[in-house]
Amino acid sequence: MQTPDWMARGQRHIWQPYAQMKTATPPLPVVRSHGSRLELADGRQLIDGVASWWTACHGYNHPHIAQALRAQLEAMPHVMFGGLTHEPALTLARRLADLLGPGLDRVFYTDSGSVAVEVAMKMAVQFWLNQGERGRSRFVAFRGGYHGDTFGTMAVCDPDEGMHSLFRGMLAEHDIVDLPRDEDAMARLDAFLESRGPQLAGILVEPLVQGAGGMLLHDAQVLRRLRQLADRHGLLLIFDEIFTGFGRTGTMFAFEQAGVRPDIITLSKALTGGTLPLAATVASNRVFDAFWSDEPAHALMHGPTFMGNAMACAAANASLDLFEAEPRLAQAQALSGALAAGLAPCRQLPWVRDVRVLGAIGVVELDGVRDREALKRRLVEAGVWVRPFGNVVYLTPALTIAPDELDTLMGAVVAVLRAQRP
Ligand SMILES: *Cc1c(COP(=O)(O)O)cnc(C)c1O
Repeated sequence: MQTPDWMARGQRHIWQPYAQMKTATPPLPVVRSHGSRLELADGRQLIDGVASWWTACHGYNHPHIAQALRAQLEAMPHVMFGGLTHEPALTLARRLADLLGPGLDRVFYTDSGSVAVEVAMKMAVQFWLNQGERGRSRFVAFRGGYHGDTFGTMAVCDPDEGMHSLFRGMLAEHDIVDLPRDEDAMARLDAFLESRGPQLAGILVEPLVQGAGGMLLHDAQVLRRLRQLADRHGLLLIFDEIFTGFGRTGTMFAFEQAGVRPDIITLSKALTGGTLPLAATVASNRVFDAFWSDEPAHALMHGPTFMGNAMACAAANASLDLFEAEPRLAQAQALSGALAAGLAPCRQLPWVRDVRVLGAIGVVELDGVRDREALKRRLVEAGVWVRPFGNVVYLTPALTIAPDELDTLMGAVVAVLRAQRP
């Protein structure tokens, strides 16, 4: 393929994410996006199966979000959030609180998911300090989990995913344990929490699906057990819904399927419909009340420069409009059946270990992948943008993907996996 001039000249100055720069296949130059399609510099179109790391829930370039962004750009792109405030941020906070339901009432904005989790952890630790309980700084998190790339969040990721041995000494020590998938595991976790006692601040989990740690599913009962354990031991329960929030699992938020509520929730990824960076950490009144005091030192000491960015908040409000005006959750639920049917043929392949679906997430887990770069290349040659990681090939398309595009996407995955052992 013809490399555009801007890429030939600029690529040597770029550092790509999660890539061995010496050996990785160069990135694909994209010049336009629309709906579920990416247009490359050479005119080729790829059907997108990733929705840009799960953000573009309405597809790319939705006119309603574009219109809201143009209007906000004219009025006020950004002002600092320290000492100033504005309508898009407050309207969004009210709407998020309404959507999340009673108890999750206070919204703190940041500009990335990792920082939203950092803020949740800081809130939880200071929640105890403000009440005079020192020493509660450990979190319980889970194997297979992913909560971000910063030092604070790496420490609560799966030990391999979070590179705990590489960065030993740099990472805070938390307790990374197995999810309580049955009553025995619950009893073990109960005993463990008892033994840690007043060292613990809270429990942190991605509800229903651990995303970047391997697209691993668990049932709602696990979340009900965690709520029970958190209550029994007086711990804060934090749900990281950065991946699962905004319809991805078939409900607006994954926790709705479990009928239990967290004390703090983190949101990002699809919050702005995939247009601008924005994240939110939303706390319950119980958490907020521990900061509400005549003591200045009880304030939450955090404040990113671009906190509450007006463009991003306007995009998020427009995205929520679309969840109200268009049948987005019904589309997510319909995708579930379509993904299950379309990926089912993979089950017959000897190198496929598991096929699983939840909401608009379709996962094919392989025995192993010998050459991931070659697998990625073959998927692109088949006309689709799918980005396998570990032993997992997954589809998380826009919730609005057209049926024929979804068929092409799933057909390409099945054909590529069937053609040879990856
Ligand atoms: C992506 C993700 C994060 C980190 O978000 P960034 O915006 O990449 O920092 C944290 N938690 C979960 C569950 C995620 O999926």
